[in-house]
Amino acid sequence: MSEKKNISRREFVASAISTAAVSALPVRARPDRSFPGIAAKGFAGQPGRVPLPDAPPWKDQGVLNLAKSPYAKLHTVPVRAVTIQSGFWATRREINVSKSIPSMHDLLEANGRMNNFRRLSGRSSAAQRGPVYSDSDVYKWTEAAGFALQSGDRPELRTTTEKIIADVVAAQQPNGYLNTYFVGDRASLSMTPDTQSTGHELYDMGHFLQGAIAYYRATGDRTMLDAGIKFVDDFLLPDYGPAPKKPIVSGHPEIEMALIELYRITGDRRQLDLAGYILGGDERIDFPVQRTIYMFSGTPFTARKKLEGHAVRAMYACCGATDYYLETGDETYWKTLDRLWNDMTGTKMYVTGGVGSRAAGEAFGEAYELPNFRAYGESCAAIGNLMWNWRMLAATGDAKFTDVIERALYNGINSGMSLDGVLYCYRNPLAFDPSTGDKIRNPWYDTTCCPPNLERTFASLPGYFYSTSKDGVYVHLFDNAELDWHLEDGRPLKMTQKTEYPWEGDVAITVTPAEPSEFCVYLRIPGWVRQAQVSVGGKSIPGVRPGAYLPIRRRWSPGETIRLQMDMTPQALAANPHVTEDTGRVAVERGPLVYCLEQLDQPQGVALSDGALLVGQKAGEFRSEYRSDLLGGVVVLHHPGAVYEGSSDSALYSPYSGVSRKSRPALLTLIPYYAWANREPSFMEVWTPLLDA
Ligand SMILES: [Zn+2]
Repeated sequence: MSEKKNISRREFVASAISTAAVSALPVRARPDRSFPGIAAKGFAGQPGRVPLPDAPPWKDQGVLNLAKSPYAKLHTVPVRAVTIQSGFWATRREINVSKSIPSMHDLLEANGRMNNFRRLSGRSSAAQRGPVYSDSDVYKWTEAAGFALQSGDRPELRTTTEKIIADVVAAQQPNGYLNTYFVGDRASLSMTPDTQSTGHELYDMGHFLQGAIAYYRATGDRTMLDAGIKFVDDFLLPDYGPAPKKPIVSGHPEIEMALIELYRITGDRRQLDLAGYILGGDERIDFPVQRTIYMFSGTPFTARKKLEGHAVRAMYACCGATDYYLETGDETYWKTLDRLWNDMTGTKMYVTGGVGSRAAGEAFGEAYELPNFRAYGESCAAIGNLMWNWRMLAATGDAKFTDVIERALYNGINSGMSLDGVLYCYRNPLAFDPSTGDKIRNPWYDTTCCPPNLERTFASLPGYFYSTSKDGVYVHLFDNAELDWHLEDGRPLKMTQKTEYPWEGDVAITVTPAEPSEFCVYLRIPGWVRQAQVSVGGKSIPGVRPGAYLPIRRRWSPGETIRLQMDMTPQALAANPHVTEDTGRVAVERGPLVYCLEQLDQPQGVALSDGALLVGQKAGEFRSEYRSDLLGGVVVLHHPGAVYEGSSDSALYSPYSGVSRKSRPALLTLIPYYAWANREPSFMEVWTPLLDA
């Protein structure tokens, strides 16, 4: 079932890097650092190495800081300006911060990831542990903690994070270099073109910068940020870049978007230019075509014609390229981004928003190659998809990007973390047979990229709910939430959402400017909507169009309420006929949620593996039922179905009888896809065969 023999990222790296002996590495202590880590606090508020001329105060910076980005139509709202209240995401986010983030910290410790840093400052004698990119997992965890702290102080989490940051920065070398793998007898491999392509040094530092930035935006503490600037300014910029400097290949894109986000704080143009140089590729590094495809780097980004190769690499490259566009307005970038986006959403994205269908190389397949059982759909790739679309949305204000964000968020990302917050998916298949023995949800992976990636995404979620534009405010996502921010001209604005979304389709949004004022509220009407009405103060607003923002421009008095009513009737979806795996099958959606059949919910004697079918495709035949006792509270769908008789003893081949197989009726029950595999392992499928189309 799962193609275990195919090359994974971990194996790819292991095969490409000669692994040297790990014991007896010389310690590279930084004599000027002293502990305990609390000392690091002393940096907070002190003038930095580089002045931060144009950026808004750290407290006012969002998931991205687009305040000065010339080609951003929309601007981010700080995470702390949005409070998500009791509802769908609040539950998830509370578990994230109370269970997932602390338990992942303990696992990073238990698996030696922190000792990797302490070893370099003489505080641990443990040998290096973990794959070549292990540093990035610590940084991504730091970013998750940083985002969590942007939603309010948690002294315990803050103390833990300070200690981690102190251990990390103590491992930085005097020249700014920081990596716990390419040291000692591996040091000579550092930053060679081959190592850049497979060794993840710049990938690690990209995550370092993102972690540093999130923590800075949470606390104003520059300890980690200054160490990141030191890496870029002292180590990278002087020696690496266009000739006559040494060349760079990003290998696993990530540094590009991180450099640009750093530029959005420092205003140091060299950091943006370096990202542009990396995105352009450097022909002095000449790798075989297959490798540049896999890496989605090393050749000019603007020469890319389709999404191929390693999916996370591709998504992160697209994030960096969109960031570059947002700062430079370079049209050749936009043309490429537009083309790649159409390629992905038109031929290569799962209905869950997951991408990267092939286990081999964790890669995009050909157009319409979207297998279900064998689907790879790495959690990180779905997150990369969300991050990319967030940037495309900022550039345009086009709701087609928000539709992808919502699809990925509620489904292909949300599935990646168990409901109890301590098990994670690396793969997110769309069908599953437990008889394969495959275990999809696990507490720890030696390549543990996905768990902290999921944690940082849930922690940063409030920052994705709204944007501002020159003339108003955009509402992207729906949940009980309070916005306390201001319009771009400084007028204070509060907005309160009340809803049972995604279980119900009614959303009430109370708009409270400090005083009556004219501006536009751009209300997103999701693309999945068949029917919706919008009213303000009981008066209907015309122009509602699915997949678009409805502009409601008026003089708003404090306390006026927008009411959005979306029809949540379940819908059966067909795939493009080129997706042969889905021939004669349907997927079911209700609102933003994709549903699946899991064996546990079916009546006795109905085996999904024998071919359980939905009968007919009239959406009206679904019966929705809210089950507070099931999977943390979900709406399940019931639908008449059937199950084949005697399929388990059918031969592989038998004479064609011309008669359709016998089936008997069965009532089938569907659950939201994100909640699958939270009980005992059982058969699951998203695309259900259809009996009488
Ligand atoms: Zn991952």
